[in-house]
Amino acid sequence: MRGKVAPGPSPYDFRRSRTKHRPPHPNPLPPLTRWERGFDPDPRFPLRRSGLETPQCQNRRVTTVDEALAIVAGACSPGSGEFVPLADAQGRVLARPISSDVDWPPFDTSAMDGYALRFADLGAAGGSFAERASTAAAGDSPGLPLGAGEAVRVMTGAPLPDGADTVVPVEESLSAPGRVSFRIVPKSGDHVRRRGESIVAGTALLPSGRRLDPAGIALAALAGAEPVFVHRRPRVVVAVTGNELVAAEKLPAAGQLRDSNGPMLLALCRARGVAASARLPVSDQEEAVRALFAKAGEQEDVLVTSGGVSAGDFDLLPEAAQRAGFEMLFHGVAMRPGKPVAFGRRGTTLWFGLPGNPVSSAVCFRLFVRRALDALEGDAAPGPTLLPARLARSLPVRGRRETYRDAVLDRSGPETRILPVDGRGSHDLAAHSRADALLRIPADTERLEEGDVVSYVPLEG
Ligand code: AMP
Ligand code: MG
Repeated sequence: MRGKVAPGPSPYDFRRSRTKHRPPHPNPLPPLTRWERGFDPDPRFPLRRSGLETPQCQNRRVTTVDEALAIVAGACSPGSGEFVPLADAQGRVLARPISSDVDWPPFDTSAMDGYALRFADLGAAGGSFAERASTAAAGDSPGLPLGAGEAVRVMTGAPLPDGADTVVPVEESLSAPGRVSFRIVPKSGDHVRRRGESIVAGTALLPSGRRLDPAGIALAALAGAEPVFVHRRPRVVVAVTGNELVAAEKLPAAGQLRDSNGPMLLALCRARGVAASARLPVSDQEEAVRALFAKAGEQEDVLVTSGGVSAGDFDLLPEAAQRAGFEMLFHGVAMRPGKPVAFGRRGTTLWFGLPGNPVSSAVCFRLFVRRALDALEGDAAPGPTLLPARLARSLPVRGRRETYRDAVLDRSGPETRILPVDGRGSHDLAAHSRADALLRIPADTERLEEGDVVSYVPLEG
């Protein structure tokens, strides 16, 4: 029997190489002036100069969530188009509008199994019709025009012969050899679907920028848009940073914790249908972080990192990103959680530096990465979606920053009600996993009362 093979070193195993203190950078950036830092600096997150050098970031106040979302949208141009089969088009965004090349219905047709007749003959024939020997089924050609006083047995979807304008359901018919009469007096046009009554050929059906759902795919098929021309989907690479991380299958040693952001961020991408792959975890060392940004863009349109963007000694990412040629479009957003979030661009490669705290990472993804993925796909209505709900209990509100709180929705009544989840903070994944919404509390809100209308970001998808 072979001996057990010793497992190779874990990709997370940074401990051997960890340096206690960060050596001073040979070319340090000057510290922030008070003015650059803005008038609302949180002493726990003094913003580093590395994130504040672009015109946007030299603003005299901290970037708001709305501004950050607008900056993200402005930095994203939709990808080129590609043809995909309709079978693979669920969730894809149209790069060209679709209009119909046919009328719908394409011919006058019966909506019921029954008898087609001329309404005008009802009185004249005394309610009794000559029954045509042949029946008309879906897929048949329309057959000869209807003669005076004649009725023809038709199946649902059958083309009506010329002259027929009314269908009486078969359940209402009384059939005798060669003749048919009816228990009811129909109204003119009953159970007939007229050619083009829903769509006239040439009508615009789906605009460019529409995300296809099953009904949209059905409409595209009806219009002959097979294959369908959609925007290319962005490719995402996820990289977690932090010396403390171990893989989920490992038992953490003292001072270590399992990487939950990596699997979560991949799942968030994939839930949007976006292809995402994970890079090996990155240690809090300048060389490792430098290599991360050197490779950025090789396989991805969007690099999403977790950790290393706030103000600790080992938060190396914003500075390293800039040294690697990324333009910082924002670093620090007036929000809670997620304040240290960073966003940069080098050429067509975007970088989101999400904070390491798991709930902060999730919230920043739901807002900013979501906006980018949608905008890169050419979605005319890029997320995040904000919906209204009524607050289910009063809420004391602290702080001036826009806040996103885990919450649960109650849709059982006529109005959606929202109840905040009591969590312990931005590390409380257990509370986050109970939530199906993020309750948005605008900046400078003093108190929210039960029954107030508030907005929320849904967490499904
Ligand atoms: P950072 O943003 O790097 O300062 O990390 C903030 C907090 O998030 C620290 O407590 C980290 O241990 C934790 N953290 C960082 N990365 C991850 C991760 N990938 N999974 C779970 N927790 C993390
Ligand atoms: Mg860290």
